[in-house]
Amino acid sequence: MDQVAPRTRLLDGAADIEAAAIALAARVPAELAPLASLAYNFRFSWDPDAADLFQLVDPGRWEHTNGNPVRVLTEASSAALERAARDAHLLRRAGAALDRLRADLALPGLPGRATPQHPVTFLCAEFGIHPSLPIYAGGLGVLAGDILKQASDMALPMVGVGLLYREGYFLQRVDGDGYQHESWRPVDPERHPLALVTGGDGTPLTVRVPLRGREVVVQVWRADVGRCPLYLLDAERPENSRVDRWITSHLYVSDREIRLAQYALLGIGSMRALHAMGLDPCIIHLNEGHGALAALELAREEMERGRDRAEAFSLARERTVFTTHTPVAAGNEGYAVTEVEAVLGDFPAQVGLDHDGFLHLGRTHTDNPHEPFVMTPLGIKMSRFANGVSRRHGEVARRMWQPLFPERPAETVPIGHVTNGVHVPTWMARPMRRLLDRHLGEGWVERTSEPSTWEAVESIPDAELWEVRNRLRAALVEGARDRTVANRLARSDPRSVVEAAERGFSDTALTIGFARRLASYKRLYILTMDPQRLRSLVTDPARPVQLFVAGKAHPNDEESKHSPQTLFSLKRDVGVAGSVSFLDNYDLGIAAQMVAGCDLWINLPRPPLEASGTSGMKAALNGALNLSILDGWWAEAFDGENGWGLPGEVAFDLHVQDQRDAAVFYDVLENEVLPLFFDRDADGIPHRWLARVKRSLRTVGPQFSAARMLNDYIDEAYELR
Ligand SMILES: *Cc1c(COP(=O)(O)O)cnc(C)c1O
Repeated sequence: MDQVAPRTRLLDGAADIEAAAIALAARVPAELAPLASLAYNFRFSWDPDAADLFQLVDPGRWEHTNGNPVRVLTEASSAALERAARDAHLLRRAGAALDRLRADLALPGLPGRATPQHPVTFLCAEFGIHPSLPIYAGGLGVLAGDILKQASDMALPMVGVGLLYREGYFLQRVDGDGYQHESWRPVDPERHPLALVTGGDGTPLTVRVPLRGREVVVQVWRADVGRCPLYLLDAERPENSRVDRWITSHLYVSDREIRLAQYALLGIGSMRALHAMGLDPCIIHLNEGHGALAALELAREEMERGRDRAEAFSLARERTVFTTHTPVAAGNEGYAVTEVEAVLGDFPAQVGLDHDGFLHLGRTHTDNPHEPFVMTPLGIKMSRFANGVSRRHGEVARRMWQPLFPERPAETVPIGHVTNGVHVPTWMARPMRRLLDRHLGEGWVERTSEPSTWEAVESIPDAELWEVRNRLRAALVEGARDRTVANRLARSDPRSVVEAAERGFSDTALTIGFARRLASYKRLYILTMDPQRLRSLVTDPARPVQLFVAGKAHPNDEESKHSPQTLFSLKRDVGVAGSVSFLDNYDLGIAAQMVAGCDLWINLPRPPLEASGTSGMKAALNGALNLSILDGWWAEAFDGENGWGLPGEVAFDLHVQDQRDAAVFYDVLENEVLPLFFDRDADGIPHRWLARVKRSLRTVGPQFSAARMLNDYIDEAYELR
């Protein structure tokens, strides 16, 4: 970086991150200073080489900390650090990685009205950036992380704002009966690539948010995600009571009033924190309704500047974009009038609304005084653009929220769709990336949204593609075997079951994956509705098949917490124990291994409840095939030849639908998937299978990349150009 732009006097935390990196550098041998700089930007996680460097410093620490580079550098023994400091090859690679980071940071921003001082602001209750930072639960958070990473790659001035949960999301342990237990582990922000944002005088920058009859004081942590800062609000301040500090304790904390306070903190606190840092968003993008009060806070500010309410509301709307992710009615959580009053106090009055006027904003039927207050109607009413996350979900959302627009038929309800996509450099495993680097041409990763980029997939020799698939599967099997043995020992499973895992699982079996939140609409139980059929599938020596399952249930969802039980009862059978495994504690790390190594990715949601689904996109990028209900993203991705689609009609008798879907699922598996996978040439290569894999890569790659998604948001929602 020869020409450094003059620094504007922002209190945006950039200097705090820099100071944290310098302090870390002072604790390690001087030669490792570049690693300290790399550690304070999550860009390391999608750089081709940077993560490996930290791993080399101390492989044990790296694994133990889930890949936390700050902890690796602070906790590695001095012998390990000194060894690294003498490793000329490692130091050269670190220098090169730092050059790549700096080059990235120095790129000119995407032209348009978004600027670093007026960024697009992406608000979300969870962010899935990296396995070491457990502030996400599932797809919603992972999508938020992927959007920030993609914005960085495209040099779009965007900031994320979320909450710093001091105990994050829970760790899962499933007991021997298949029942989920939760535990929480403190997240110490100082041992992560985060820095507390300080004000001009060097003390923490704070803002106040009136909640539950008190002024809650909030401080702000900054994480750098490539070029995009992620700000995390934190109520762990000495001024706050114990209970108020609890507001940012757990993701989706179980006490209803405190949960509503979380959402209010996110919505109102985010806007106040940005302004205190000198940032004024040009757009706020509400990713799901949790932060929807942000739009009202924008209106409140306009009124403070002297505008009347109508004008203030319309200005706020002009800046607000809302994405709904939830076609499940129960997912659109409602709050009683008393809860809203207890948490928000006189905030309604500050936006010029009386009691009823305020409650109307969160209601679908404004004439019903008993209807709870829901964030989704608020988000839809306070935004100038609203969307679902797949074509089908757009249709579902228009019907679902049609009562908000009584004068319109469902088709013209102003809710569009932007189908989700995934960040290719994050989700494509290294061996696949290297294969495509060889065949798709220089710089292809910058052109993932162009279909022409992916055409050269057809000319990859089958043998090369198959070799990569075999390596990815073998890596998963090795990792999953290890985890399975550890999980089973921890569950006190019979030793025969533990040893079946040690001996079992195969590098060459057809490997099936099913991993996602264990919500009942995801229908894990379809796999075990006909236990005999599953048993014969995974115990046939002629056509070896293995199944890996993972997922967390919401801690308050008792039904789902029991959902692994049928699978577990089956697994006691030692014949099955070496080919079926439930991997505890699904997270970004396990997801990465599973989507890379599985041959077949299963999704069996009850239609039309899968808004999008994204794990299948990740699997497709690694050369897996999807076998899925035609719902969510798959309803628009399936073309008859790039995987398998199961009927996605809505049924009235749910039990009949389950029975039918289970039968069709097994029919397709036995009659189509297995014959194709096991149809080999003399060299053992399944050419017809690989033809489908190529078709899948070519069709899914461009359409379901985060680049395509973000371009859609820029053009249709943000209107920046
Ligand atoms: C991608 C991902 C999800 C989302 O999976 P769906 O298929 O959308 O249900 C959930 N959790 C993790 C950890 C993920 O990486």
